[in-house]
Amino acid sequence: MSQDCIFCKIAAGQIGGPPLFQDEHVTAFRDVNPQAPLHVLLIPNKHIVSLNEANAEDQALLGHLMLTAVKLAQAEGVANGGYRLVANTGPNGGQSVFHLHLHLLAGRRLTWPPG
Ligand code: 5GP
Ligand code: ZN
Repeated sequence: MSQDCIFCKIAAGQIGGPPLFQDEHVTAFRDVNPQAPLHVLLIPNKHIVSLNEANAEDQALLGHLMLTAVKLAQAEGVANGGYRLVANTGPNGGQSVFHLHLHLLAGRRLTWPPG
């Protein structure tokens, strides 16, 4: 856990309400500033700054994160209609919180390309 990381605190249950989903490895919670009717963030419980800092030992964890997003999309009833998974990475990627996370966005027709 990184002491000054907001997402580490959410994973540890120190701030925020009860997560949408949590297991030993990952936590999912609603984005505080939703950009779509469904906007969930999925994070590894361990502090990884971004995809750039993930390594081979995180391979199963990253797969689990993605499959958990699919399960949540199904549970929230948006799987068939479609959704988007996004991992903003670094300055040009628009990353603002430096604890690796996936955005699960759904519930409206999302445009492409992103801004
Ligand atoms: P990024 O810009 O790094 O890809 O995404 C960070 C996301 O975290 C943003 O969508 C922002 O709204 C969300 N966020 C930032 N702080 C908090 C917080 O304290 N709680 C929750 N639930 N979401 C947060
Ligand atoms: Zn963290």
